[in-house]
Amino acid sequence: MAWKLAPALTILRAQADRALPKRSEKSDGTIGDARHQAEPHSDHNPNSAGIVCAWDCTATPKVAMWQKLADEIADDPRIGYVIFDRHINGDGRWLEYRGSDPHTNHIHVSVKQSAASWNSTKAWSLPVFTSDAPAPADGLDTVYRARSAHDHLLTTSWAEAHTSGYVYEGIAWRYDPRANTVPVVRYRKRKTGQHMYTVSAVEGALMQVSGWVKEGVAFYATSAGASPIYRWFNKANGDHLLTASAGEKPAGWKYEGAAFNVQVVR
Ligand SMILES: [Zn+2]
Repeated sequence: MAWKLAPALTILRAQADRALPKRSEKSDGTIGDARHQAEPHSDHNPNSAGIVCAWDCTATPKVAMWQKLADEIADDPRIGYVIFDRHINGDGRWLEYRGSDPHTNHIHVSVKQSAASWNSTKAWSLPVFTSDAPAPADGLDTVYRARSAHDHLLTTSWAEAHTSGYVYEGIAWRYDPRANTVPVVRYRKRKTGQHMYTVSAVEGALMQVSGWVKEGVAFYATSAGASPIYRWFNKANGDHLLTASAGEKPAGWKYEGAAFNVQVVR
């Protein structure tokens, strides 16, 4: 039998895709596969009208944003119930959920089994997406910045910039990946979880022998003339700050020079 995802959920998925253009879809799901048929609910199977009234939204990496998103989705009158992180919300409050799948890597969204709910294509109210919405998918990469008490995190993943324990600070800079092809590698200090970024393989190798773990390419820089990214060091707590702004001079921090250059799109 032909089936389709409830239009209400198609809209929800489109809003998530727009807000998080690089989101993982690893645990996304619509029509029931073996895993879902094993779940105690059956909204992933088409109803008598051929409509699938459930959608699973991948919720990795593990960041605080997903709980906010689950809360906001659960507030919509179209919702039958939402399951996320060992809890289920069917009537405005989260109750413990004891199903075999704890739903820690996806948010299960069921709309009510009524045409008025599944057919409604009204946009979902999701302030978590609109309060600091990521830039549109225009071929540019966006570097987001977040901070904790002793670390600055730079990432092209909006979701990671909302990692719990960090306060999202906004867009650090944007660049065209076609004009910036020199990899900037991210390292994490094993002891403190602090992050550092460098284009220098020598600096990276030295860091690895002194307690830093190589995490991989964070974003890209250029070797041609472009905007310097300034590096500052906080001696008191070991925090490094990278900024594209010549005017950002944190008081009491040591200026370490231009870390690398990026052809920044303003
Ligand atoms: Zn599900």
